[in-house]
Amino acid sequence: MSTVLLALLLMQTPAALDLSLTVRHSHAIGSCDGTLFFSQDGVRFETKEKNHSRRWSYPDVKYFEILSTREIEIHTFESQGITRLAQDRDYKFTLAAGEIDDNLYQLLVRRSPRAVVTHVVFRGTEVVAEIPVRHRHVIGGCQGTLTIATDKIIFRAGRKEDSRIWRLEDIRSFASSDKFSLRLSSAFETFAFDLKLPLERQAYDLLWRSVYTPGVHSDKP
Ligand SMILES: [Zn+2]
Ligand SMILES: [Zn+2]
Repeated sequence: MSTVLLALLLMQTPAALDLSLTVRHSHAIGSCDGTLFFSQDGVRFETKEKNHSRRWSYPDVKYFEILSTREIEIHTFESQGITRLAQDRDYKFTLAAGEIDDNLYQLLVRRSPRAVVTHVVFRGTEVVAEIPVRHRHVIGGCQGTLTIATDKIIFRAGRKEDSRIWRLEDIRSFASSDKFSLRLSSAFETFAFDLKLPLERQAYDLLWRSVYTPGVHSDKP
C-alpha cells in the first residue's frame, strides 16, 4: 500500500466507520450499563447484565427514535413475553456521557430502511415558514408551532409527547383543503393541524415538490 493511500485512510474520521455510545439501558425496574456500537451493518448493545446484550441488523429495527440529544430508543420487531402479547419490544438508552450528534443521525438515516424519528433538530435547516397551529386530537387538541424548513418539518407541541421532527422525504402525503388546514402523514402516523396563519405558497410548493416529485409517483412501466 502506498504511503499516500495509507495516510488518506488514517485521516478518515472514525465517524465514517463506527460510532459507540456509553449508555444506560432503562428497564421496567432499574437499569444496566453498557455500550451501544453502531456500525455499517447493524447495532450492538454490550452489557454485563445477563441476557441484555443484543445485536440488530438495520432491517431488524422497526425504527430509531432520538428522544433528545441524550436519549435514543430502539423500537424492534422482537415480541414481548406472553404477558404483553401484541407489543413489540422497545429499548431505551440514556447516554452516560456526550451527546447524540449529526454523525450518528446521518448514519441511521443512511442505513435504516425505515424512517428515523427525531425530536432533536440537526444541522442544515433553513426555515421557510413558521406557523402557530392547533393539533387536532380525537377529542380537542393541543397548541404548538409548525416550522416548515427546506429539509424537515418540526412540530413543537405544548403537549410534549406530540412534538415531532419529520424529514421531508419521510412525509408520505399531505393535504391542505384550504390555507388554514394541513394534514401530514408519515409511514407511522397522521397529524392534522388547524393553522392560525395561512399556509403560504412557498411552503405549499415545497411540500408539494418533496411529496410529489415527478418520477416518484409515475405510472410508467
Ligand atoms: Zn439492560
Ligand atoms: Zn397534540
